[in-house]
Amino acid sequence: MMARLDTLPARQVAAGIAAGDFTAVEVARASLDAIAARDGQVQAFLQVSEELALAAATRIDAARAAGEPLPPLAGVPVAFKDNMNLLGTRTTCASRMLESYESAYTATCVQRMLDAGVIPLGKLNMDEFAFGSTTDSSAFHPTNNPWDTRRVPGGSSGGSAAAVAAGEVTVALGSDTGGSIRQPASLCGVVGMKPTYGVVSRYGVVAFGSSLDQVGPFGRRVEDVALAMSALVAGGRDRLDSTSQDCEQDYLAHLDDPIEGRAVGIIPALLEAEGLAPEVRAAMQEAIGKLAASGARIVEVDLPNMANSIAAYYALAPCEAFSNLARFDGVRYGYQEPGCTALSEQLSLSRAHGFGVEAKRRQMLGAYLLSSGVYDKYYLAAQKVRTLITADYQRAFAQVDAILMPSSPTVAWEHGSISDPAALYLSDIYTISSNIAGNCGISVPVCLGAQSGLPIGAQLQGRAFADATLLTFARALERACEMEGAVAPACAGKGGEL
Ligand code: GLN
Repeated sequence: MMARLDTLPARQVAAGIAAGDFTAVEVARASLDAIAARDGQVQAFLQVSEELALAAATRIDAARAAGEPLPPLAGVPVAFKDNMNLLGTRTTCASRMLESYESAYTATCVQRMLDAGVIPLGKLNMDEFAFGSTTDSSAFHPTNNPWDTRRVPGGSSGGSAAAVAAGEVTVALGSDTGGSIRQPASLCGVVGMKPTYGVVSRYGVVAFGSSLDQVGPFGRRVEDVALAMSALVAGGRDRLDSTSQDCEQDYLAHLDDPIEGRAVGIIPALLEAEGLAPEVRAAMQEAIGKLAASGARIVEVDLPNMANSIAAYYALAPCEAFSNLARFDGVRYGYQEPGCTALSEQLSLSRAHGFGVEAKRRQMLGAYLLSSGVYDKYYLAAQKVRTLITADYQRAFAQVDAILMPSSPTVAWEHGSISDPAALYLSDIYTISSNIAGNCGISVPVCLGAQSGLPIGAQLQGRAFADATLLTFARALERACEMEGAVAPACAGKGGEL
């Protein structure tokens, strides 16, 4: 059979291997070939793990030859954000600080994907330590948006979104502390899901903001994301992550359920907000119309405290980051400044030279906000705002099953065109509140912008632990918008034949 790997849903990759249409090694080679042909332009990868990929593929082919049952994602090409440990690779967090850090073990989320039979293709670029919205703060190189390589892919999981949009892999994992899965998914025209806090284990993922971080999948279709979700929760609660919850559920069983008569919330004030690009506003209105045409009831809801979410997040997240990144001291982990005679000098120079500008800014902000006399004014106040935002969601989700809003106020922008960090922080307005409340959210591509021709995603947010319901609404939106499976045109067709 002749096929292009980038046109195949994950389910068909696994089914094709089971049926003997192609081997897992052929799939691994097709993915390596697509990476070789496309990643020079896109630069999504920090490391390509060819040996690991071929070894995993060989094991799957051997299992099939022996007549053993194949796992659900057998032979599906997957890559991981470089803040996730995978034995046999480095875990750099795109930082000089961890440039030569060899993974000492494999993260639970990565292991569960491996247990489901995926082929690990390597590690993906990101903003340094996941601070950012562009992937430009990677210490190694920027990643380019596959739809227009002069533009950013978004961030911080920009490498994950770009690798999937370019058709280099079928699924990628990213992490989302304030939008880092949903925003790059939107900018790259792919599906990206932030599960409910606690659904996916964070063991082995380098921590940014421990009360906000959540791992989730990217795919070119909702079904691929649902399959990855099922793999990530298989086995239930991870006793190695005390915040992980037992919530094993079947994310596929209700994927195609109709949404007739079910309520989708919209927040009119958000759609009129200053800073929302006209083509994104138009895309949201179109998406709302399509959901209504699919039978959903559109209901106005309000999240009155969302306006304070950016201020609350940029107090809470830096405080948590300051505490988490204290371990990178040049002694136990990572970069160690050579030639120092005093320990204090070694500590301070290792950190000064190991971290980039944004990582330093976040840590200094966190140190200040946690200092005595300042703590009550900001950190404590932000925790109170957190309670208010969570209560807002509880009221809204008493009325509706999902809330629709943009994932990003604009389409992808040109590298370097936003230099003010505060302007970047403000662009997180639509994603941050769901991390603060710990509920689930997903970005689904809905159209190409009328002015820019670039992809636009709509975000759906759902109540905590209703991740399967969120996927049902995402699938309904995907069906209505007919953007399923799109590979960025500049990449499609370059390598990757099966
Ligand atoms: N853009 C946000 C920030 O810079 C979110 C990052 C993330 O989710 N990792 O903090």
